[in-house]
Amino acid sequence: MSASHVKLYIPGPVEVSEKTYRAMCEPMMGHRSADFKALYAGIQPRLQKLFGTKRPVFLSTSSAWGVMEGSIRNLVRPEGKVLNTMCGAFSDKWFDISQRCGKQAVALQVEWGQPISPTRIEEKLAEGGFDALTFIHNETSTGVKNDLPEIAAVMKKFPEVMFIVDTVSSFSTEPIPMDDLGIDVLLTGSQKALALPPGLSLFAVSERALERAQSVEGRGYYFDFLEFAKNQATDMTPSTPTIALIHALRSKLEDIFEEGVEARHARHRANNSLVHDWVNTRGFEFFAPEGYRSLSLTCVKNNREVDVAAWIKRLRENHSLVIDGGYGKLKGKTFRISNMGDETGTTMREMLAALDSALES
Ligand SMILES: *Cc1c(COP(=O)(O)O)cnc(C)c1O
Repeated sequence: MSASHVKLYIPGPVEVSEKTYRAMCEPMMGHRSADFKALYAGIQPRLQKLFGTKRPVFLSTSSAWGVMEGSIRNLVRPEGKVLNTMCGAFSDKWFDISQRCGKQAVALQVEWGQPISPTRIEEKLAEGGFDALTFIHNETSTGVKNDLPEIAAVMKKFPEVMFIVDTVSSFSTEPIPMDDLGIDVLLTGSQKALALPPGLSLFAVSERALERAQSVEGRGYYFDFLEFAKNQATDMTPSTPTIALIHALRSKLEDIFEEGVEARHARHRANNSLVHDWVNTRGFEFFAPEGYRSLSLTCVKNNREVDVAAWIKRLRENHSLVIDGGYGKLKGKTFRISNMGDETGTTMREMLAALDSALES
């Protein structure tokens, strides 16, 4: 690592291990070669296990927004509407994107810091005419973890409404069983919970969603679900993928299954509760209500009115690490601490000790 290495405890991108970087140094291969197909096919079983699905897992060379936009373009018909559930920066943006894709978007907004209400979803969908619903499991900007199982139960009453779920900052930190929950598109990105460099996103699409896509015009090419499915049949991607990142993903899957998926979930819970203890004992408050707090990051209310920017500057200069100073309109009013990726009890305690030290100085 370079001498100027500043360790990231921001909620993405997160710290990338040396093992992961080394995995990216494999010799280049043709993306239509037998070697690539073996790489692609080889990682499927583990990806399907993590996704909780029997469906194939597609690899998109884009950040998560590509697949988020793609989901809208593939699943919402011109005459249909999309219901955008909105509770923070990322989920709010989906409404904007739906409109930019020329779709009839309906906003279901709650105040930032609050979770999405299953009852309100049910009321809205009961009005009829909806083709899809967008939903963010873990709203990274506010640290709110929405109640996915409860909302999935509501969605089962509306099988014609495609259930699009973003798990960018929660994937692999807790069980998200796609098939059991009846999710139609489950998507995640590389640079957050998976602790890979940015540039790759992963997603799986239900059979009924693929059927829907067939009847939707204007899907484009790059994110056309049917192109992904067609290429998947021969262990390939529609266009040249980020092969180095797929090697990194293979290496990360090795790490995850060596640790054990349940042990990984437990480690995230334990690391998260170290941060929660720190918040409680230092007189800070949580931005998200109890019962709806993310397990992979913590959004802390700056009720002590600390100069967050100056604090983070000291963290960077004196401790070579950073946390996040609040997203968008929450800048300075909150700060966010990530426990995603490869963090251990030891590294989390080191980071929290640095927070204390830089807070006092
Ligand atoms: C970061 C994030 C995104 C956007 O990811 P990009 O990689 O920037 O496209 C979407 N949703 C959530 C929940 C995120 O945390």
